[in-house]
Amino acid sequence: MTIKEEIKEQVIELTKDGSRPPHLAAVLVGDDPASQVYVRNKVRSCEQVGFGSSLIRKNADTTEKELLEIVDELNKNPEIDGFIVQLPLPAQINEDNITLAIDPSKDVDGFHPVNFGRMIQGLPCYLPATPYGIMVMLERYGIETSGKEVVVVGRSNIVGKPMAILLGRKGNPGNATVTLCHSRTKDLAEHCRRADIIVAAIGKADFITGDMVKEGAVVIDVGINRVDDATRKRGYRLVGDVNFESVSPKASFITPVPGGVGPMTIVSLMQNTLEAYKNR
Ligand code: NDP
Repeated sequence: MTIKEEIKEQVIELTKDGSRPPHLAAVLVGDDPASQVYVRNKVRSCEQVGFGSSLIRKNADTTEKELLEIVDELNKNPEIDGFIVQLPLPAQINEDNITLAIDPSKDVDGFHPVNFGRMIQGLPCYLPATPYGIMVMLERYGIETSGKEVVVVGRSNIVGKPMAILLGRKGNPGNATVTLCHSRTKDLAEHCRRADIIVAAIGKADFITGDMVKEGAVVIDVGINRVDDATRKRGYRLVGDVNFESVSPKASFITPVPGGVGPMTIVSLMQNTLEAYKNR
């Protein structure tokens, strides 16, 4: 059974008595094409698992004050279990101020410092959706992480940094020896070649190449990059941060882009929303 099917079964069970189903709201500011696709996929996934969903769309010139008001309404709305504000936001809005304004109990993206701090201490919390999805994937595919050398490339607050913490923590998956690499890392290729598991969250197309990967390594590609492609109707195609062609022959396990981490991120968002519903 897929995770989505499992969630759907739980929703049926939880709403048997006539209770409303879990409800996720998404706020989309502006018209960034990639964000529109992500939000659409999230709303569609809500429908698939039987959740209610609301999409709040605002123009690119929305002010920080206006967005804070929306966040406040969503915090107070008892019909909404969790919500996300799709990033990136237009330049006039400070993303940190928005993240800080979200009620941690509705922060199903797991970006609020309360959830982040609880994650670091191993306390119950909403884990950031992308690293959470990767942890679930490692578990479901039976990929051993204990004692392994893991290299995470990228140290963003939403992917790289929490990924490094989760893989290094006591538990399963976890117990790995983690190296967190970034743009100032010297000899990145050398670090990668030592790794049993590589997580690439850089945002640069085809950055990790076959010569940087050890034979038999597990390679998790988080990147979603648009590259021009005149042969495609829409004029571009999506590629990861890993050069699939040169890396896949050496890897024992590799996630594709599109596919792989993207869908797992959405599933984790659904899991966090279900959890928020149960906690309410
Ligand atoms: P950020 O831009 O916030 O972070 C990128 C990280 O990569 C930074 O830590 C940066 O280092 C590092 N980096 C950049 N250039 C290099 C380099 N030459 N060598 C080593 N490290 C480098 O990106 P995100 O973490 O938000 O996203 C990463 C990718 O994952 C993007 O393609 C994004 O679209 C995708 N993504 C996919 C998701 C999914 O659901 N599959 C969810 C979220 C993101 P420094 O800190 O020094 O600047």
